[in-house]
Amino acid sequence: MNCPTCRRSLHPDETHRTACVRCENRLRAWLREIPLQRPLLEASLHIGAAPATGRLGGTGRAHAPLPLREDVLTLLGPAAPGTVHDPHHDQTGPTPIHAVLYAWADRLADQLGHALPALRPGDDYSYYVLANLRHVVTRAWVTDMYAELRDLIHRIRAVTRTEPQRRVQEAPCPSCRAFALFEEDWQTYLDCEACGLLLTPAEYRAHHAAVMPTLYRIGVLMAAATAEETPPS
Ligand SMILES: [Zn+2]
Ligand SMILES: [Zn+2]
Repeated sequence: MNCPTCRRSLHPDETHRTACVRCENRLRAWLREIPLQRPLLEASLHIGAAPATGRLGGTGRAHAPLPLREDVLTLLGPAAPGTVHDPHHDQTGPTPIHAVLYAWADRLADQLGHALPALRPGDDYSYYVLANLRHVVTRAWVTDMYAELRDLIHRIRAVTRTEPQRRVQEAPCPSCRAFALFEEDWQTYLDCEACGLLLTPAEYRAHHAAVMPTLYRIGVLMAAATAEETPPS
């Protein structure tokens, strides 16, 4: 049986899920990333927002307001500074962040049988979806939510040019032995690109402590053997 969301084969204890642990991990990271990206989006709202060089010291002249970036305005949605109201709902094209999250949060609240909580100003519903993620990953619609959030996060990163960094880890994967374990910003688990294994940071530290002394020793012995074979120049 495969994960309906990513098509990887499901672990026997994941068969009740519609999104596997890896997919859940990715969703959690995206939902945490969206609020962190918001200030960067707001800073990108004005075309030419970066300070001009060689103009230190004001001339006392008032400048016309900078034009706004349409794509950023769309992402920030109706609550953006310099709001563009759309009373006839005839706005076409990509959906704002708030609208995407609201739609899924609303559906979730409906299925959980309670009213959607009110938002604090400047907040979005990522926190609510995060808080109920265990439920989300057993719903058939998680596949659509996953695709929408992936699209949303790509649009955001394309504007802010900020994305989580992946760092390859020193120790090989305990399952497939490939040197393909990665740590990524805002992710709960380290993951193996070769076999899909997930490890918590604590599990990785324990694994690292267990295998690395032996690997270092082998490395030192190999380096010594190579040095012996190489004739002095
Ligand atoms: Zn999956
Ligand atoms: Zn592996």
